[in-house]
Amino acid sequence: MSLTLESGLAQIRFETLAECSVTRARAGLLHTAHGTIETPVFMPVGTQATVKGLTQRDLHDDLQVGILLSNTYHLYLRPGHELIARLGGLHRFMSWPNAILTDSGGFQVFSLSGMRRIDEDGVVFQSHLDGSTHRFTPESTVDVQLALGSDIQMVLDECPEYPVSHEYARESMHRTVRWARLAGARFRERMRALSTVHALFPIVQGSMFPDLRRECAEALLELDTAGYAVGGLSVGEPRPLSLDMVEATEGILPRGRPRYAMGVGMPDELPEYVARGIDMMDCVLPSRNARNGYLFTSQGRVIIKHARYKEDERPVDPKCTCYTCTSYSRAYLRHLFQSGEILYSALATRHNIQRYLDIMREIRHAIISNSFPEYLRCVRSASAEAE
Ligand SMILES: [Zn+2]
Repeated sequence: MSLTLESGLAQIRFETLAECSVTRARAGLLHTAHGTIETPVFMPVGTQATVKGLTQRDLHDDLQVGILLSNTYHLYLRPGHELIARLGGLHRFMSWPNAILTDSGGFQVFSLSGMRRIDEDGVVFQSHLDGSTHRFTPESTVDVQLALGSDIQMVLDECPEYPVSHEYARESMHRTVRWARLAGARFRERMRALSTVHALFPIVQGSMFPDLRRECAEALLELDTAGYAVGGLSVGEPRPLSLDMVEATEGILPRGRPRYAMGVGMPDELPEYVARGIDMMDCVLPSRNARNGYLFTSQGRVIIKHARYKEDERPVDPKCTCYTCTSYSRAYLRHLFQSGEILYSALATRHNIQRYLDIMREIRHAIISNSFPEYLRCVRSASAEAE
C-alpha cells in the first residue's frame, strides 16, 4: 500500500488507529514496501547491517522486529554502497525481509570522523577506518541510500554538538533546511525513474532552542514528505531538554505523518516521547548496554556482574517471554559474562531488545485501550533497581 503525495510520488503510508485523549500519543500502522509496522515502534540498531550478536532469524522469527535501522556512514565506507547495490541491495545482502531505515550519515560524520569541514554544499570528512577523505552532499547521500534500497531514508543534516550559541545553531539549522530542499529535489528526481517505494524524511534541528526548532519544522513542511524526524537529541544535553525540544514542534509537524525521534532513549523515556507525539524511535542502548552487562527488566535494571546474582536461579526478568528468560538463570548469565563468553552477548542482547519491544507493545496497547495516561503515571513512579 502506498500514499500518493501532492508531488505525485508513491510513498509509505501512515494510518492512525487510536489517539490518547489526554496526551499527544497515538497508535498507528506504517505501511511500507517491506511490511506493515505497528506504531509506536522501537527500531533495533544494526549499524554494520547487523544487530550485534543476533541473527536475522532471531530478529524476525523470535523478536518479530518489523523494522531495523542501519547506518549509511558505515556501509558507505565498508563494504561500500555500490558493492551492496551490485549484490541486490541491503535487504538481500543482509537477508532481511522487513523494513529498513537508514540515517544519512550526518550524525556519524559529526561524531566519529576525526576531521570534517562543512561548507554550504556538504561536508568533507576523513574515514575513521583509514583516514581517507570523502565528501557527503545532500544529493550524494540520497544516492547512497537509494543504492542501499532502504525503505525510509534521512536527509543529510548538520547535527551540532551541545551546547552551541543561538547564532551558530540558527546558521546550522538554516543549512540543514537548505540541504533538505536539495535532498528532496534529488529524491523526487530519482524516484521518477524507480518502480520501488521509498520515503525520505527531513530532520528537524535547532539545537536546544525552541524558537529555532519551530522555525525549522515550519520550513520543512513545504517539502510535503511522508514523515518527519527530530534529530540533534542525545548529544549530551540534560534529558528533560530533549523532551522539551520534541514538544516544541509537535503542534507544527502534520498529525497525519509519522514522527521519528532519532537516537533516544532509556526505557522510562520511551512513553515520554510517545506522549509528545513520537511514533518511531531507535537507540543503541539496549544492545550496547546488554554487552556491557546492563540488563533492562520490568522490575528495573540488573547489573549482571553483581555478586548477588552468583547463585540466583531466577531468569533475568520473570515476566519476560524471551528465549533468554525462558531458558537461563541469572547465575548462568553472570558466569558467561564473567568468563567473557560470546554467548553472553547474544543472550543479553536478545533479552534487552525484547524488553524494548515489550515496552512499545505495552504503550501501544495502553493507547488503544485508552489507559495511556495511567500507564505513564505508573512508569513515572516506578523505581530503577530490580529486586
Ligand atoms: Zn527476557
